[in-house]
Amino acid sequence: MKIKIVGLTKKFPGDIKKGIQDTVAVDHLDLEIDDGKLIGLLGPSGCGKSTTLYMISGLKEPTDGQIYFDDEDVTFLTPEKRGIGLVFQNYALYPHMTVYKNILFPLTSLKVKDNEKSFVVEKSKKIIEILDNVNALIDLIKSTAIDGKIKRDAAVSAICNKYKVSMYLARQIYSYNLHASTDLNNDVQKRIDDALISIKEEKERLIKKNLHVNDNNEIVNENNECKQIERKLTKDEMDALVREAARLVQIENYLERKPAELSGGQQQRVAIARALVKKPKVLLLDEPLSNLDARLRIQTREEIRKIQQRTGITTVFVTHDQEEAMSICDRILVMKDGKAMQEGEPQEVYRDPKDLFVAKFLGTPPINVFKGYIRNNQLYIGNEKIKDVNPNIEDKNVYVAIRPEGFIIDDKGVFSLDCKEIITMGRDLSLVCSSPFFVGDKIKIIIDSDITPWIGTIKFSIRDSKLYVFDEKSEERIAI
Ligand code: ATP
Repeated sequence: MKIKIVGLTKKFPGDIKKGIQDTVAVDHLDLEIDDGKLIGLLGPSGCGKSTTLYMISGLKEPTDGQIYFDDEDVTFLTPEKRGIGLVFQNYALYPHMTVYKNILFPLTSLKVKDNEKSFVVEKSKKIIEILDNVNALIDLIKSTAIDGKIKRDAAVSAICNKYKVSMYLARQIYSYNLHASTDLNNDVQKRIDDALISIKEEKERLIKKNLHVNDNNEIVNENNECKQIERKLTKDEMDALVREAARLVQIENYLERKPAELSGGQQQRVAIARALVKKPKVLLLDEPLSNLDARLRIQTREEIRKIQQRTGITTVFVTHDQEEAMSICDRILVMKDGKAMQEGEPQEVYRDPKDLFVAKFLGTPPINVFKGYIRNNQLYIGNEKIKDVNPNIEDKNVYVAIRPEGFIIDDKGVFSLDCKEIITMGRDLSLVCSSPFFVGDKIKIIIDSDITPWIGTIKFSIRDSKLYVFDEKSEERIAI
């Protein structure tokens, strides 16, 4: 599903009496998200990320603009009609329900439009298909034995997972007790005969109404036309969907637990399974990792990425953590004050920031920003001439931003800094430096540990690809 956002705006009205001004949370946002992509909405607190997500979900109505899912204008559709799955930061699981029931919950009210089907025929055919290779079934059941003893629940669950059938059908098949049969051929044939009789009876019942069952188990009239019906899901269908979603996020072994008996990461996976169980066309995640500790955050974000790639579901992921967005997203949108600042592949936005805000927002440690100026086609910081610039650029004051990895210790370097502290970080060294022209708190530089730095004045040459120049007034990047 492709998502297109045009001029999306959300204004929260203020209150003149209380002196509260209107807030433009999202301001004429344009964005296109290709089918199957994971996009991160990124930006500081209050920049409008969540409001954008809620408008895509239908939980908030825009003041202006349109939202399209493929070619359909969904701007004013209710969330239920949009086919979305939502995951919030606080998981919002029902504590008194098992994991199974939590995932099941969205399905209980779901109505599907469907061609009328014969579930009797479908189920009977499935039984015949499984019994057709009864040795594989018996091997599977026996493989779940512990200390030579077969446990019903484990065997049923294995049947569910292998044959993608509901728990109810798996229980029925297990109850045939074929793994303990002393006359296997005869017992199998009896079950197959029962299934064939069920199919025959169902077909006879339908024929009386001039109806038939086609190869897809749909009920058709004499012109091969199916009847469209709106119906609730059957118990079997719901069960199969719950198990499929649980398998997808790998919590199929925890279905009978209550949320409190799971780790934070597992609970968040349950929340994702619950969002996926209705097979949404779009998955919306609002800071889904912020309640997890650092280790679980990294693990869970990678799992989210895998789930997203496995399902190919178009996903919008809200975070204020740039590293998180950079590591799992196909694309990122950096926002500020409700506006789109820059959109693109994470590395592309990092390498090629269009303005100072984006340059400062991406990268750890952050980019180092200095006050500088351009005079007679030369870029200066203080009295030091850093490099030649494009002759078309007029003299002006600028910001010079240099990534921490852009500095090389060099006797003949063009830029001097006062090194205050040297910190070892694995293979690299981090230098904390100062400069009267620095804008901010601490200059942080990363260099290879094969060069031995010292405390005091150090001269650096600067890697060209790590240096950016921005207009002091507009803060827009200047191509130098
Ligand atoms: P955070 O990272 O802190 O969650 P965000 O980028 O998701 O922030 P939003 O929650 O979208 O930001 O809020 C954007 C702006 O809209 C903020 O200034 C916020 O105060 C304002 N805002 C959000 N909801 C409302 C509301 N219901 N009424 C008034 N103002 C609101």
